[in-house]
Amino acid sequence: MLRLNRPYVGIPTFLRARTVEDISNLDAMIAVMGVPFDEGSPFLPGTRMGPRALREQSLRFAGRPGIYDVTTGQEYLRAEVEGGLISDVGDVDIFPTNPEKTFEGQTEMVRAILGRGALPVVLGGDHSITFATVRAFDEPIYVLQFDAHTDYAPITTDLRYTNGHAFRHIAAMAHVKQITQIGIRSLRTSPEQVADIRADGNRIVPVKELRDLGPERVVASLPEGARCFVSIDIDVLDMPLVPGCVSAEPNGLNYAELRAALQAVAARLDVVGFDVVEINPPLDVPTGATSYLGVHTIIEFLGHICAQPRWRARRDGRAAR
Ligand code: MN
Ligand code: MN
Repeated sequence: MLRLNRPYVGIPTFLRARTVEDISNLDAMIAVMGVPFDEGSPFLPGTRMGPRALREQSLRFAGRPGIYDVTTGQEYLRAEVEGGLISDVGDVDIFPTNPEKTFEGQTEMVRAILGRGALPVVLGGDHSITFATVRAFDEPIYVLQFDAHTDYAPITTDLRYTNGHAFRHIAAMAHVKQITQIGIRSLRTSPEQVADIRADGNRIVPVKELRDLGPERVVASLPEGARCFVSIDIDVLDMPLVPGCVSAEPNGLNYAELRAALQAVAARLDVVGFDVVEINPPLDVPTGATSYLGVHTIIEFLGHICAQPRWRARRDGRAAR
């Protein structure tokens, strides 16, 4: 019998992908997982509701064979959606007031996804979670961070796991070759952090530099085909675009600029996973615009990743087995 499955009907898995409870049975190329965690938010909480809101908004894109872009005439993700190559593996379990234990579970979950050869797509959560994803990788990787803020606060015995610390942890990981921070502009940025970032061999690309150079030239400094993890703090977008983001800042990217940058990343680099963080549904406008934009970003980025020859070769190789 025909089912319409309107977006408000049914169980909200990401894009209505099938759920996989036991990741050892995962048989997909893309695994969506949530980290409903906001204990790393020193200002207003609420990003713990991010994964659920993103899944709900994703249903507005579900029920069609792929994502059709009328501007380019291209269709994205058709093979992935029709072939059932996307699975939703659910959320990390949260141990309130025990972030180390929550993060351990998160790292294990990402490792399990990688062990099945799938690409992890992580729904945050605040930005503190990203280090627990990145440490799950064994291989050398580059890290690209889209953010208004550097998130490079010094780690002390008193403070170590806020959303302002993640990239200090990441920079210290032996397998992380370099961090490229794109969109940095907050006037609350500390000069000491900037000095440390550069002294550690990482790169800051402020908004103006991205605009002056263009995204292709920005990513051209990274080796062609290099494997990279991409972390998208939704506050990289301009303040009025993201009412449901506590850390929103003026003079951010417009959506087309973020999309172009992500497209350039997907074309040049081999994206091995990504996350989207800092969407705060309780503070969003009633339409869920910030969550919708988050899902829009995920779907377009995923679409560009899956449109690359290197991805298509993997997909065809998998189908041939
Ligand atoms: Mn951030
Ligand atoms: Mn930020």
